[in-house]
Amino acid sequence: MTEPLIIDIKRNALDDGPGIRTVVFFKGCPLSCVWCQNPEAINPGLEVMYSPGDCLDCGACQEACPTGALDLQRQPYPIDLANCRHCTVCVDQCPSKGLRRMGRSYTVEELAGEVLRDRAFYRNSGGGVTLSGGEATLYPDFQMRLLPILKQQGIHITLETCGYYSRPQFERHILPYLDLIFFDLKFADAGQHQRYTGKRNDLILANFRQLVKLSRIPVLPRIPLIPGITTTPENLQGIADFLRSENVHEVALLPYNPLWSEKAKHLGQALTYRHSQWLSGEELTACSRYFAGFTIRPF
Ligand code: SF4
Ligand code: SF4
Repeated sequence: MTEPLIIDIKRNALDDGPGIRTVVFFKGCPLSCVWCQNPEAINPGLEVMYSPGDCLDCGACQEACPTGALDLQRQPYPIDLANCRHCTVCVDQCPSKGLRRMGRSYTVEELAGEVLRDRAFYRNSGGGVTLSGGEATLYPDFQMRLLPILKQQGIHITLETCGYYSRPQFERHILPYLDLIFFDLKFADAGQHQRYTGKRNDLILANFRQLVKLSRIPVLPRIPLIPGITTTPENLQGIADFLRSENVHEVALLPYNPLWSEKAKHLGQALTYRHSQWLSGEELTACSRYFAGFTIRPF
């Protein structure tokens, strides 16, 4: 797989690295976390998102579907994915934003052009581009063509990664161009990692260790605080112990945001985790206690 789909290019972002940034969301991830905040980024292929609030109930999509996969009576997601060819004819027929295409392909040159458009903002604010997703490291062939173009123009490049990547390709084609890495650590225990993300964490922990040992750039571990899943005392203590053993004493804690679940439902995904409240200040404080002596970065 070489040419990735892009879900979104978010400009003027202030939370994904220093300064003003353009965040590129790559589609496709090797993990499938049950709480994924960007559920449209898990599947690398084209998807159709349904927005009932924008639907006019005109029936044009249902009429146009060549396979009969779309039935507006079927809610919360009207498409039978087993019969959908992902042709997106239904999206083309939709007069509103009731149906939207998730994923668009760009050539390397097109994407570089999009990112370089904001160069003046990066220069004035100390910002740059952030590769996010999904998982940008899934596409080393694409990155090895994109990143040198951006680097040549002096662009600061941040990577947000789940850490599940092939090290030789990463170290050869991606790492040399990076200036900062946000590295997600979700579980200390491999079995829990497998249960909630679909993959064990051995590779992720090994990649993290190697990166901390060899890297010339800052690597900030980020821990998503998912109530009842990653926030257990055993898990937070386990992650804190792992970081101390690697001599890392800085961490970002990412408070849970429940908005993902509506998106997941409207992509036809089955939910196996439900939690509708945002993480409270008290919960965040309680989680922070496991990281006594760390510098805790806001996120
Ligand atoms: S993407 Fe194509 S096959 Fe799938 S529901 Fe839409 S029109 Fe039908
Ligand atoms: S075409 Fe769009 S607006 Fe019309 S029923 Fe389908 S999703 Fe709703």
